Amino acid sequence: MADRNDTLFAHAREVIPGGVNSPVRAYGSVGGTPRFVQSARGPYITDAAGREYVDLVASWGPALLGHAHPEVVEAVREAALRGLSFGAPTEGEVELADLVAGRVTAGGLKPIEQVRLVSTGTEATMTAIRLARGVTGRDLLVKFDGNYHGHSDGLLAAAGSGLATLALPGTAGVPAPIAAQTLVAPYGDLDAVREVFAELGDRIAAIIVEAAPANMGVVRPAAGYNQGLAAIAHEHGALLILDEVLTGFRVGPAGYWGLEVEAGSLYEPDIITFGKVVGGGMPLAALGGKAAVMSQLAPVGPVYQAGTLSGNPLSVAAGLATLRLATAEVYAAVDAKAVQVAEAVSAALAAEGVEHAIASAGSLFNPVFAAEAPRDYPAAKAQAAFRYGPFFHAMLDAGVSLPPSVFEAWFLTAAHDDAALARIVEALPAAARAAAAA
Ligand code: PMP
Repeated sequence: MADRNDTLFAHAREVIPGGVNSPVRAYGSVGGTPRFVQSARGPYITDAAGREYVDLVASWGPALLGHAHPEVVEAVREAALRGLSFGAPTEGEVELADLVAGRVTAGGLKPIEQVRLVSTGTEATMTAIRLARGVTGRDLLVKFDGNYHGHSDGLLAAAGSGLATLALPGTAGVPAPIAAQTLVAPYGDLDAVREVFAELGDRIAAIIVEAAPANMGVVRPAAGYNQGLAAIAHEHGALLILDEVLTGFRVGPAGYWGLEVEAGSLYEPDIITFGKVVGGGMPLAALGGKAAVMSQLAPVGPVYQAGTLSGNPLSVAAGLATLRLATAEVYAAVDAKAVQVAEAVSAALAAEGVEHAIASAGSLFNPVFAAEAPRDYPAAKAQAAFRYGPFFHAMLDAGVSLPPSVFEAWFLTAAHDDAALARIVEALPAAARAAAAA
């Protein structure tokens, strides 16, 4: 029976391409009608038909504290009362830059001295790349298959044939000469990167990598992998851009980099990008690095970058409130909940004899329909992905909203209490049966 979500989706498709403002929201890979969210609070979202779901999307990461955290909402409200946007600097921006730089320290290392605020993760990575090119005076960029860094032209490049082959456009609308400035290397293989640098090292400005990939499903980097990338880049006078848009301030107070350094992998990225949690659910993202690199940005340096809404006061207020509330206890609690849900998912799938593994990196995780958690993109793609749609819909029918794609991480929040977790656990047996029957 058609409900308000169906009516809205039908109308939306007439006035919005595909009915959505970001493709994965359209339920393309799982089928069915996306739920139009009317409101959200804590671990729950309520759809346009008034139905409540336990949410494991968390706005794709930002809602670390849960939806509409009262202190975050109050901070935004207070900021709104002082004005929505000025196009002039504010005190909050200085505080947020301090907070980001001060937090991202580990093992005696402090890779961030200066921070530039932008509005989206796409802008953060795009700016980081321009900055790396400006600093090095080189054009080429190395990225990895299965890694997502936003939708700027050069980052939507698909692997050509052969390692050091300049990439092809990964979407219509990107000129081949722009895609050809990107080299796509296989994720997880340091030797492949060494080969690329052996051939083209003096033309490569930077390597960009997701600190822990989560856009081909979660893929935990091998210990020392990111450190190895830093070493190769630095040996050849290139920069390492560590993309923590998704992982930054979500998997720990100093991001995935902080977890790695604490585990003994001491390395310093040259530029780190942030998004999602740093804006507390409002449009805000950032890039940071040493002053010597960051000061190459305009107005001090020759690399131009700007934004009417950059450092927007409402977004800054949400980011400040969120980061101040994101204590070590919050991360420990989110970690524990993630383990609890992952174990319950695994037990339910095992009970139905469904081949699976749990891929995880910090508190990010997702089930994988394969014998082992993937270490690279080909392995991630080789799973029995057809099992996910029925699993997803059985969960949705039972009131649990999962990411609508098998290639996305599940996100817990500090607000997922025992009642919310119990609803997830109760929904799992039927979903596991649906996956088994697929
Ligand atoms: N980098 C990573 C690692 C991401 O996961 C994303 C978005 N999911 C982006 C960059 C782009 O961020 P945005 O969607 O805010 O442009």
